Amino acid sequence: MRMGPHMMLGSDPDAVKGVQVSRGIWRRVLGLAAPYKGMLVGFLLTIIGAAVLDLVPPLVFRQIIDTTIPNQDTAQLTVLGLAVVGVALVSAALSFSERWWSARIGEGLIYDLRVQLFDHVQRMPVAFFTRTQTGALISRLNNDVIGAQRAMTATLGSVVSNVIVLVTTLTAMFLLEWRLTLLALALLPVFVLPAKRVGRRMQALTREGMNLNSDMNNTMTERFNVAGALLVKLFGRYRTESREFSARAGRVRDIGVKSAMYGRTFFIALGLVAAVGVAVVYWVGGNLVIQGAITLGTLVAMAAYVTRIYQPLTALTNARVDIMTALVSFDRVFEVLDTPNPIQDRLGAIDLVDPVGQVRFDHVTFRYPSAAQASVASLEAPGSSTESGGPDVLRDVDAVIEPGQLVALVGPSGAGKTTLSSLVPRLYDVTGGAVRLDGHDVRDLTQASLRAAIGVVSQDPHLFHESVIDNLRYARPDATDDEIAAACRAAQIHDVVAALPDGYRTIVGERGYRLSGGEKQRLAIARMLLKDPAVVILDEATSHLDSENEAAVQAALTTALAGRTAIVIAHRLSTIATADQILVLDDGRIVERGRHDDLFAAGGLYADLYRTLIRGDAEGVAAAEVVTPGVPT
Ligand code: ADP
Repeated sequence: MRMGPHMMLGSDPDAVKGVQVSRGIWRRVLGLAAPYKGMLVGFLLTIIGAAVLDLVPPLVFRQIIDTTIPNQDTAQLTVLGLAVVGVALVSAALSFSERWWSARIGEGLIYDLRVQLFDHVQRMPVAFFTRTQTGALISRLNNDVIGAQRAMTATLGSVVSNVIVLVTTLTAMFLLEWRLTLLALALLPVFVLPAKRVGRRMQALTREGMNLNSDMNNTMTERFNVAGALLVKLFGRYRTESREFSARAGRVRDIGVKSAMYGRTFFIALGLVAAVGVAVVYWVGGNLVIQGAITLGTLVAMAAYVTRIYQPLTALTNARVDIMTALVSFDRVFEVLDTPNPIQDRLGAIDLVDPVGQVRFDHVTFRYPSAAQASVASLEAPGSSTESGGPDVLRDVDAVIEPGQLVALVGPSGAGKTTLSSLVPRLYDVTGGAVRLDGHDVRDLTQASLRAAIGVVSQDPHLFHESVIDNLRYARPDATDDEIAAACRAAQIHDVVAALPDGYRTIVGERGYRLSGGEKQRLAIARMLLKDPAVVILDEATSHLDSENEAAVQAALTTALAGRTAIVIAHRLSTIATADQILVLDDGRIVERGRHDDLFAAGGLYADLYRTLIRGDAEGVAAAEVVTPGVPT
């Protein structure tokens, strides 16, 4: 009775074949279910109650046929008739509550797993996200969580309830008439073996259908995004596209028909066996009644019970695969939950209070973490490298940046400027040496207080698909409208925002109002001002800004950086020339350091870089366009 379509459709023997479900998974699953212990007990009790209750009507009919009718006891007949109605009502109520328990447990479990996964994943270091395929991760968060939930309620629930229905029904049958019971069981293999085969074929069809479906969907998403649609249009390929699509959709149609017919075959076969079973019981049992070996009532009750045993038995033959499939889902969810997070607050980490903003790179060596250290292999893009550890990207970098200083990082592309700056907010941990903020190793500070002390303005700042004001409040949720406007004025962006269609309520971001690069960067500067950090890390835009934007960004920066320690990945002559200290990086090392005049006079790498920049400027070429080896980026 409790064999939902998932019993046959969702399970996939090939998916579980050869899969080693990790040991101790049962214990973990039980651990997850622990908060629902009370509910599980309620769930089990309702199942048992319903199974036992369902045994009652055939017994009542037996009583009516064997005793009440021969005795012509109309009063008892009324009572027994009402009793059957009463049983039906209670049974309906139990069915409701069973569903309620299972929904509460199942949805509760989904909720727990999702929230745990979300929290775990968002705390993972940047390296995890750079290596992970977002699609695979999202699917893990959606599909496998649902698969795991299904395991908990549908599969386990149906296995438990089928076992209970079988045990209770068979017990009642044996007690009533053991010969007929054995006869009914003898018929079973006739059905169960073919049913297993059909079930397997159904699973294969379902899997194939899912693949064809995703094929078809891929075609649609590829062709219907802007770039794809444009390509189809410009090459006038409508007819070929339609033909190919119709072929794909046709395969989906065919497999749909096939699997519908297999499904029906399954249920027809089940119905047939039940019918044959009932007929055999009546035939053999009828003879027994004629011989006076059993009563007519017993025969009717037995015939009613016999229909209740075939379905659970069939369902149970596929139970192993179902349970394994479910456990695989749990395993895949646990795999993500168990990915260690190497960047965590150290035990006894201290809060950084009132930071002054002295940054010190203390003989820093760094290499990017290998795939194995950074992510879950199964979530990586196929073909991505798995070699352990790359070359050292930073080598013995040693520098002190005093509070309030502006330091320009200069050097050829790939020299390690971005990498060096990302070590300060501890997006990565150093491989050797230490990064210190106000004298504390950043690994000894709580991440919350460390990141509160640092503001980052990247080249192409990200804005969420939210209003301007919500994007700004991300930095400080309790900022008043006046404070926000003040920050925007300081960042030279207030007038631009005020002129937007909905002013500060305009939705921006990927799909919202498109701000230009310079405007976005000024908005990011405003966001940083609201945060009011002691240290600012700024990646100057390499893209060419028009002179108006350039002047605005420059003015915004002058205010923004005043009184803060600034580490600037510099692309502008003005920034470089006014820096308190210039660090020239080449191939992961600091090769020159000092102020502009001295460095320029020294005539080394810096002088070369600077000359190229001037030439680029003089020719009116954007810095970004002169990015060739040996040129600052
Ligand atoms: P710059 O900012 O000076 O252009 P980067 O700090 O971006 O240089 O890069 C320094 C080196 O580190 C380059 O060789 C680059 O290929 C490598 N690199 C950058 N990011 C990663 C990463 N996520 N994983 C592995 N290597 C990286």
